[in-house]
Amino acid sequence: MTATTGGRLRRINWVTTLFLLSTPLVAAVWGALHISAMGIGASELAVFAFYVCATGFSITTGYHRHFAHGAYECSRVVKVFYLLFGAAAFQHSVLSWCSDHRRHHKYIDRDEDPYNITRGFFWAHIGWLLVTDHKRAEDFSNVPDLVADPWIRRQHAHYLPIAVVMGFVVPFALGAMVGHPWGFVLWAGVFRVVLVHHSTFLVNSLAHRIGRRPYLRAISARDSIVTALLTFGEGYHNFHHRFATDYRNGIGRAAWDPTKWLIRGLEMIGLAWELRRVPTERIVAAELDCDSERLSERLARVRGSSEQAVAHVRARFAEMAASVQRAAAALTTREREVALARRRRGRDRAGQLRPLRAELRAARLEMRAARVRWHAVLAELLEGPLAVSPSS
Ligand SMILES: [Zn+2]
Ligand SMILES: [Zn+2]
Repeated sequence: MTATTGGRLRRINWVTTLFLLSTPLVAAVWGALHISAMGIGASELAVFAFYVCATGFSITTGYHRHFAHGAYECSRVVKVFYLLFGAAAFQHSVLSWCSDHRRHHKYIDRDEDPYNITRGFFWAHIGWLLVTDHKRAEDFSNVPDLVADPWIRRQHAHYLPIAVVMGFVVPFALGAMVGHPWGFVLWAGVFRVVLVHHSTFLVNSLAHRIGRRPYLRAISARDSIVTALLTFGEGYHNFHHRFATDYRNGIGRAAWDPTKWLIRGLEMIGLAWELRRVPTERIVAAELDCDSERLSERLARVRGSSEQAVAHVRARFAEMAASVQRAAAALTTREREVALARRRRGRDRAGQLRPLRAELRAARLEMRAARVRWHAVLAELLEGPLAVSPSS
């Protein structure tokens, strides 16, 4: 064995590697044998669905949006749920996960980014987990707020027993009650671990490869409905990297973001509060910056256009941007007014809210109309001929 091979082998994190490689293998072999012999039971499917949701959302809603980004506050009961079922997802403790993730945001696409996509799809998806970086693993200096929480420290200290008990022993015990202990371990344990693992891993790989970059063009993170569907709504990743503290990733009403809907649901029943939202005005400004960059690139590419034509294009863009910004500013004001009124207590709260909500609806409609005009003008400026029209 050469010194280099020995060094490489020493870097391999054998426990994690064996776990990540054996779980899909066990799922395939044991799964095929079990299903061919016993079929698929309704109780197995039910416990599988519960465990996929409990552990998957503990990662997206809990580890990611609450602990790593502080996108909202929540009750102790919810936090403990995240700590227990997040551990059962077998993605390490909150401290390790969030420390890596904050490094990913800070150094995106650079060497210090633990799952740097520029090192390849495989590295970002799973490769980075197969090797040990001792220096990184012991450095929690970027998560002092989380280190200060004794519950989070406890979860870190006892991570493995919590993960095994919540991830495999509890399904076994639940299954024993209905006479299917190993069927429950297979479905709620093995199948579910593989599914949730790769769903999370896709946020680090696929979300940095496919989709659009409407908010920040200088980074690899992208928005894609395909990734969103596979990752509990984490696929609007360009928005997320631009506005990481927003509790939403998919901001449109139709955007598939069940993690956002769950946080709103927790707010409605009083278990979550202080949901952070980036004002519409700032979001629109980021989009316009990207559009302006695209337009500049096009103007630089097209040679031979007269100065008059270029000035005309720029003036049209500026005029359109100003009208969009006006609509966004009006909507932001209405959103703030409604948010303030909702926080107020008192008998006439509902009476005060009604007209404000009507104004908010009108501002949303105006923003929607402004957005339609914006995209029509933009398509024309980016794709149409760069000539001054005879009428101008
Ligand atoms: Zn990312
Ligand atoms: Zn993040």
